[in-house]
Amino acid sequence: MSGRFVVVGAGTMGLGIAYVAAGAGYAVELVEVDPDRGADAVRRLGELWDRAVQRGKLTAEAATANRVRVTLRAGLAEVAEGPDVIVEAVPERLDLKRAVLRQAEGRRPALLGSNTSSIPIAELADGLDRPADFLGLHFFNPVWAMALLEVVVGAATAPQTTEAAVALAARLGKDPVVVRDMPGFATSRLGVTLGLEAIRMVADGVAAPADIDKAMVLGYRHPVGPLELTDLVGLDVRLDIARTLQAAYGDRFAPPPLLVEMVAAGRLGKKSGQGFYTWEGGVKQ
Ligand code: NAD
Repeated sequence: MSGRFVVVGAGTMGLGIAYVAAGAGYAVELVEVDPDRGADAVRRLGELWDRAVQRGKLTAEAATANRVRVTLRAGLAEVAEGPDVIVEAVPERLDLKRAVLRQAEGRRPALLGSNTSSIPIAELADGLDRPADFLGLHFFNPVWAMALLEVVVGAATAPQTTEAAVALAARLGKDPVVVRDMPGFATSRLGVTLGLEAIRMVADGVAAPADIDKAMVLGYRHPVGPLELTDLVGLDVRLDIARTLQAAYGDRFAPPPLLVEMVAAGRLGKKSGQGFYTWEGGVKQ
């Protein structure tokens, strides 16, 4: 199978999307404005494929073929017109994403997607000439391990664009859910609900964080508890999402005071070493 797949932004998510797209046989162009980050992403991709070979998950030939399929580009201007897919994975800032998407549209892709985790597709589509070809392609981290692709359908998205996104998911080995463009989509809205309630339970003294998490892991078969997950995602990130959802749906998403206090105190979870748990060297203590 062939085809051209462009990923804009070679950060955490862009790297993972490039990994699965190359593995699915696409010629991948990875667009990154920061040369150091770009070089680092290409090096990391090589390491990931080496590790897959060592674990017996990939042949050495397939790993080499994947590596050869990825080309680093310093800007969208270097991308030739007419790719099958462009996925935007730059930081979560409306103005930046809008500018990148407008430029991406100029490369005339058959399908244009954004990996936004919270910005409404309608707001991102504002200013596009062909919003019918555009939708949300919300991958999860780490992309190679997470089966879900949340396909977010904007008001202007054409039905054939949604069909193309579902077909793309199959080719990438992902399992799609199709959701309407509402704040928090399906994943963040439910996931954050659970996280916020767990934080209120800590504040109420219902149980220690480890016991609240254990209750959901053992009692409901969640792979990880809501407080540990909040530490992994980042308390600041969850606070931002809660505020966005509060503005959209009302005070049932009001951030608990404990969350606001912890963020103000710099207790952001794994990345700061302290959240509901203590983390050392990226490992929960
Ligand atoms: P990141 O900061 O790790 O990477 C973003 C990359 O984009 C950086 O390398 C940056 O240099 C690059 N960039 C900035 N402007 C650019 C431009 N004009 N052209 C090309 N590259 C440019 O961010 P991330 O965590 O990969 O997140 C990317 C998107 O994915 C965000 O919208 C985020 O909300 C979403 N998302 C993140 C996660 C996650 O767990 N990190 C999960 C799902 C969705």
